[in-house]
Amino acid sequence: MGSSSWIRRMFEEGIELKQRYGEENIFDLSLGNPIMEPPAEFFQEIKKIAEHPTPGMHRYMSNAGYTETRAAVAEQLSFEIGIKFTMNDIVMTHGAAGALNVVLKTLLNQGDEVIIFAPYFAEYVHYIGNHYGVSRILSTDDGFAPRVDELEQAINKRTRAVLINSPNNPSGAVYSEERLREIGDVLRKKETELGTHILLISDEAYRKLIYDGLEYPFPAHHHLNSIIATSHSKDLALPGERIGYIAVHPECHSREELVNGFIHVNRTLGFVNASALMQHIVRHLQGVTVSVAEYQRKRDFVYDNLAAMGYSMVKPQGAFYMFPKSPIEDDVAFVRELQKLKVLTVPGRGFGTPGYFRIAYCVEDRVLEGSLDGLRQTAQKYGLTK
Ligand code: PLP
Repeated sequence: MGSSSWIRRMFEEGIELKQRYGEENIFDLSLGNPIMEPPAEFFQEIKKIAEHPTPGMHRYMSNAGYTETRAAVAEQLSFEIGIKFTMNDIVMTHGAAGALNVVLKTLLNQGDEVIIFAPYFAEYVHYIGNHYGVSRILSTDDGFAPRVDELEQAINKRTRAVLINSPNNPSGAVYSEERLREIGDVLRKKETELGTHILLISDEAYRKLIYDGLEYPFPAHHHLNSIIATSHSKDLALPGERIGYIAVHPECHSREELVNGFIHVNRTLGFVNASALMQHIVRHLQGVTVSVAEYQRKRDFVYDNLAAMGYSMVKPQGAFYMFPKSPIEDDVAFVRELQKLKVLTVPGRGFGTPGYFRIAYCVEDRVLEGSLDGLRQTAQKYGLTK
């Protein structure tokens, strides 16, 4: 537990600071907990259900979820990706976290390896460990995208899966079509060489949050043995409601066996099924998303201000995080300096990448504006600005 999460640690320390100095005087950029409210359509669906409840709508159901919800998810995915999914490829889950745990539990035998890329969502290492797997952590290039040569070298007989996350938490990077194609090529080459199947697990929790008119490059286009794990935590701003899904590529090796495994494990891990009420609601919201323009505006505000202060960073193309270089080597010391100025961020080592720090800009403008002073003072202290 001691080493478990820098995000949690900063969060706990933040609570203490807020109690001491007052909430309005602490500028908390440490948590990916969006302040945006769910779209109006969400509340309309709740109202409809409350006014016209149907008998049995809160009972247990198949562990895979309601057929109508799975069909609606499959239809939307088919439309977006251009690959024909059916409800038999979909399992509704307890958020993306639930989806990832179900996939890993189903897939891994003790000692099986899962390749992840730093910087990574810190929970991955714990999820893989939950199911007695081994995390093989690889570095990324200057744009935080996987290095294909390293990937090729790292794959061996024990490699069961490669877990990618685009748009990425914490860097905001969106992997390009070319890089995904190269990853797919390497996976197929190694599958043939080793006589194994290597699953590409694509964590798409932020898929809908991409900027500058970019079209999302789908990993599923580049590897048949692929799985999507995602949720409506970010695209509908429902992280507390715990609703997500797994989608298996219709041409994935052992597709049916995998789906049956996911359904079984959804039950035995104790999730049983995804929330009935949320399944009834999100069935009608598959084409709905929170305001992406609003997040883009916040990204531009933070990026432009930090760049003017002399911070060096890759401009995020998605999600709601930024991952600037720490002006000093010791990212924890730097984050502590910011903390003294009442700005809360997370050190890069919490994501397997020391020397950086993460800003979550999914907060009120007041907090973003308030954080600038501390960020400017540290930039001056460490010689970033003249
Ligand atoms: N994957 C990534 C990359 C995340 O950042 C998060 C949450 O922040 C999750 C998965 C978990 O999302 P959920 O709330 O849907 O479980």
